[in-house]
Amino acid sequence: MGFDSGREMPDRVVVKVGTRLVVDDEGRPRRRFLDHICAQIRELIDAGTEVLLVSSGAVTVGWRMLPGPRKTLRVAERASAAAIGQPVMLRYWADSLAKVHLAPAQVLLTQDDVVNRDRCMRLRQTLEGLLAWGVLPVINENDSVTVEQVTFGENDLLAAMVAVAITPAELLVILSDQEGLYTADPRQSPRAELIRTVQPDEDVSRFAAGAGGPESLGGMAKKIQAARRATDCGIRVVIADGNVPEVLTRIVRGEEIGTCMLPGPRMPSRRAWLAAHLKPRGTLIVDGGARRALLQSDGCSLLPSGITDVQGDFHAGDVVTVNDAEGREIARGLVNYSAEETRAIRGQHSSRIREIIRRDGPPEVVHRDDMVVQVSE
Ligand code: GLU
Repeated sequence: MGFDSGREMPDRVVVKVGTRLVVDDEGRPRRRFLDHICAQIRELIDAGTEVLLVSSGAVTVGWRMLPGPRKTLRVAERASAAAIGQPVMLRYWADSLAKVHLAPAQVLLTQDDVVNRDRCMRLRQTLEGLLAWGVLPVINENDSVTVEQVTFGENDLLAAMVAVAITPAELLVILSDQEGLYTADPRQSPRAELIRTVQPDEDVSRFAAGAGGPESLGGMAKKIQAARRATDCGIRVVIADGNVPEVLTRIVRGEEIGTCMLPGPRMPSRRAWLAAHLKPRGTLIVDGGARRALLQSDGCSLLPSGITDVQGDFHAGDVVTVNDAEGREIARGLVNYSAEETRAIRGQHSSRIREIIRRDGPPEVVHRDDMVVQVSE
């Protein structure tokens, strides 16, 4: 299939493995799977591809270790279960990795670590350092400290953020116990077909909505949303069944397994970080003229004169979304002024900025170099 680097194999791949692959219903390790995937990771590293692993399973492992029967976990219990499960899950990985002479390094993340540019860059350094040492980063959400509203939930989005923003990769492989994306629920419709390839601008969300029972339904829809964030930034995504023999090495070598979501043009990493931003701090509403200017060419900065309204509370340097009057997102970017200042200068000509806010500042509220236009959700 060929990658940007000109090589047949990607320089770097992020692999996400779902809970059902790594542990059974009782939270016991699925050793054969773990051994098999670790052997494949070894093979890829030996062939010159860097691998980062995003592993779920901690909550289930911890939950099953708690005394007494429990059908569900409350949010606070989930956080505690994760604290019990993380070290155990890492030990399962360590056992299987040891067989191929690899060591794991545990990295637990929250959304703040991605959203904050300094933390994100620090993380990149750490992870790249680990890769250079030949250690396998085993990444999971730090479920013990995340709050419900800002959890990654299933790790698909976390894996996409790792591939897009933290350690830019060329390929994201999402492995679960499902074969890929189907045109209908394969358990209910004999005519359901596996979708082999999805084009960068193809809307396949309708297929996810129709597929699977309550569990896999959300599961596939979320996988596609997460995958879209990656493909929008130029990263190829393959969704496949982790139980297929040699699935990872075969996918990385370009074999067609599962569903391959083809990427759009590659985005420079800073712009990708902006585009994939999870939590913009505010919104700038723009008039029709500014909307046209931003959409017509990717090369326009946003000036105060085109802004009609300012929502939220943000500081200079924060990420904001730019919406049109109908509430559609047009762009995302780093804002040069605080919310208060932007409110004061909105609708005004840039030449009046100094007089209004009593300090010098750039003529644009969001500079074109700090902006990504038309971010898809
Ligand atoms: N961070 C969660 C865990 O480790 C992810 C749960 C999931 O993806 O199912 O259990």
